[in-house]
Amino acid sequence: QTIRIDGKAIAQEIKDEIKAEVELLLEHGLRAPHLTVLLVGSDPASVVYVRNKAKAAEYTGITCEVLRLPESVSERAVLREINFLNSLPDVDGILVQLPLPPQINKRTICDAVRPDRDVDGFNVLNVGRFCVDQEAFMPATPSGVLEIMKRLKIETFGKNAVVCGRSKNVGMPIAMHLHSNGNATTTICHRNTPQEELVKFTRAADIIVTATGVPGLITSDMVSEGVIVIDVGITRMLSDQGQARLVGDVDYAGVSKKASMITPVPGGVGPVTVAMVIKNTLIAYKNTLQKNSLSDQFKK
Ligand code: NAD
Repeated sequence: QTIRIDGKAIAQEIKDEIKAEVELLLEHGLRAPHLTVLLVGSDPASVVYVRNKAKAAEYTGITCEVLRLPESVSERAVLREINFLNSLPDVDGILVQLPLPPQINKRTICDAVRPDRDVDGFNVLNVGRFCVDQEAFMPATPSGVLEIMKRLKIETFGKNAVVCGRSKNVGMPIAMHLHSNGNATTTICHRNTPQEELVKFTRAADIIVTATGVPGLITSDMVSEGVIVIDVGITRMLSDQGQARLVGDVDYAGVSKKASMITPVPGGVGPVTVAMVIKNTLIAYKNTLQKNSLSDQFKK
């Protein structure tokens, strides 16, 4: 019996847990955590992602403000905005929605966000801390993948894991976690992995996490019976009737016949990713609260 992993239900569980915590904070007379999202331009996918994050925040009681800047905005103006947000005492999480227009250097912007407010985990300090097993914010998508594994009690210790995709925000942190904290023997495959090699690795895998944006990359002949498959890929495709639909990297119909657990697209990793941004905002808030109460104690 194949388990179809219900990302929406997992996301709902996470949001309900956050909501309960926020209610408790308010009952104690504290303010609600706050997330500010910076959206540059009006890329349609980014607009949808930002709307979903704002909706999720609102559901939990976390306040969320979306600051929109024009597509033509200069890097200096974005930096000025980030520095201002960094200085506001009531902002807990700052998220810059990617991609950014070409006149703006993504790395400069990501590194300008205060690491303790960097709820998307893109600041180089968070990336580095995570790589050396220190406490850090991890980007929402890999956090979502790990949260799914944790909640479904997917055993990784000693297993063979294959991660397809090595991007710094998605594939790399997932592989990093699986081999270190997860103690899995982890193989990273990427665009230069020859197809015949990819097949060898995926057939030997107990767990496959794929994040490439290549529809149909993983087919049923490439996997073993009982494999666990997490599909992070999202590609917008047009049907013959001209309707847009989202597809993952996995041929779901075929692979789900052999898999023991599998995430669908849509409704798998995506909703959990959104919930993790909100969870990180609550964590940032609680870290500040703890820091402030420690410094109060010190003053006494
Ligand atoms: P990216 O373009 O930065 O990276 C793609 C990776 O896939 C690269 O490392 C590349 O080497 C690898 N790749 C390409 N062709 C391959 C092949 N034939 N075999 C093996 N590897 C191959 O993209 P990204 O930002 O890492 O995102 C990956 C996918 O995940 C995209 O489809 C994106 O839309 C999706 N995504 C989903 C979520 C979510 O919430 N579910 C969030 C972020 C990204």
